[in-house]
Amino acid sequence: MLRGATIVAGVVFVMALVGILSRPLGALAPVWPANAVLVGLLVRRPRLATPLAWLAAFVAYAAADLVTGSEPGLALLLAVANVVGVTVAYLSFRRLPAKHRRLEEPRSLAYLFLVSGAAALAASLVGSLAGPVYLAAPWHRMVRLWFVAEFVNYTVLLSVVLTAPTVRPGAWRERRASEAPGMARWYPLLAVVAATVLGMLLDGYGAIAVPVPALLWCAIRYRFFPTALVTAGYSMAMLTLLSQRASEGGTSIASLALGLLAVVGAPLTLNLVQRQNAELMQRLSRAVNHDALTGVLSRRALGQRFQEALARCRAEGASAAALVLDLDRFKTVNDRYGHAVGDEVLVRFARAVSEPLRSEDLLGRLGGEEFVALLPGLEHEEAVAVAERIRGTVERLRMPIDGHEVACTVSIGVATATADGLPEDWRELVQAADQAMYEAKESGRNRVASVALWPAAPSPSELDTV
Ligand code: GH3
Ligand code: MG
Ligand code: MG
Repeated sequence: MLRGATIVAGVVFVMALVGILSRPLGALAPVWPANAVLVGLLVRRPRLATPLAWLAAFVAYAAADLVTGSEPGLALLLAVANVVGVTVAYLSFRRLPAKHRRLEEPRSLAYLFLVSGAAALAASLVGSLAGPVYLAAPWHRMVRLWFVAEFVNYTVLLSVVLTAPTVRPGAWRERRASEAPGMARWYPLLAVVAATVLGMLLDGYGAIAVPVPALLWCAIRYRFFPTALVTAGYSMAMLTLLSQRASEGGTSIASLALGLLAVVGAPLTLNLVQRQNAELMQRLSRAVNHDALTGVLSRRALGQRFQEALARCRAEGASAAALVLDLDRFKTVNDRYGHAVGDEVLVRFARAVSEPLRSEDLLGRLGGEEFVALLPGLEHEEAVAVAERIRGTVERLRMPIDGHEVACTVSIGVATATADGLPEDWRELVQAADQAMYEAKESGRNRVASVALWPAAPSPSELDTV
């Protein structure tokens, strides 16, 4: 508990110093990372939120102000305001589902804005009492300033802290190795930096909007955390710039900071919407490419996958085997136990067949109780041995379903070819395996029958002539 409180106090003290050192003399600190970082820390590690840690945070806030020369009364008032805001944000986040605390959906951003706004309002109402008492500034003007600056800080910095990956030694190196090499991935970031600098050089408030296209580029190219990080960098630069301009020219920065908040929402939302769409596409493609009952490849997908696998085998000079598997007398299973039990048998059969397969093997459902597998790289004898193992496994399978102990057998046809003889069209190989499967049925079921398409087994007449 003491260690947790020390961590909290240390983080708050350092972050508060960063904020205090960034502020123009006598004004509010435009960049104030302490509150958002503390909220993020407590939301991600709720065990740190002990009464002692809250007290430590309060002391650290006050201490940072005191060591930088604030009056004790002012330091205490500001510390109270900060702790009030942090408490509102922390308690609000604790009530939200975990996925929103991790900012996983576009809707999470709406919650982030709401929580940030509430926390900023609470802190500004309390903290602005310092205006008339200590800073010779009217309360209402200070509320407005404090509110928007705090609102931006919370929103932008929480989006970073809540989504930062947990540091694991070596993770960075792994990620770098897996990403596309080269300069190209830095371009969106460089564009934001260039646009931010350009906006600052051109003297005017349009500076806020200049980096928007570059920020959207980041949102499209990067994951959420890097996007949030770049957005935060841009926001903090803008806040500093705007508050400097405001202190020189006396302009209120409230509306500009609010505008900044609206700008920041765009890349963050775009990124999450895009991620949600990508996940939907993935789910859709899974649904289309997999059989709804058994989860193996659907008829629609297996053609393309088989064709690609055969092309790879030809290119690598590897042989391949196709297996057609048809459950024996399956109609009687349905007739005896009902269709629902039949369905469950199909599910368990598919699971039993797919379990021993390698990652490069493909298993699909041709229709009904007929399945097909493609085993790249297998020679004829190996493929027959695999089929024989599957046949034996299925024969021994006892499936307790709805109070029945259901058993079934399977007939398997195997067709193989070495690389030079692999047909152009996957269907030829499967047709040959299907033919063999019928032979297995005719010779009594619960059998494996096989054919080597290439090199073809010599026929008896050929053997005679040798
Ligand atoms: P054989 O040994 O000759 O293959 O006999 P069989 O009864 O397995 O073959 P047949 O082709 O005559 O019948 C296949 C049966 O498979 C017909 C149908 O009731 C059943 N079937 C097909 N698709 C499904 C399914 O999705 N669920 C269930 N429960 N049964 C199915
Ligand atoms: Mg059958
Ligand atoms: Mg059949």
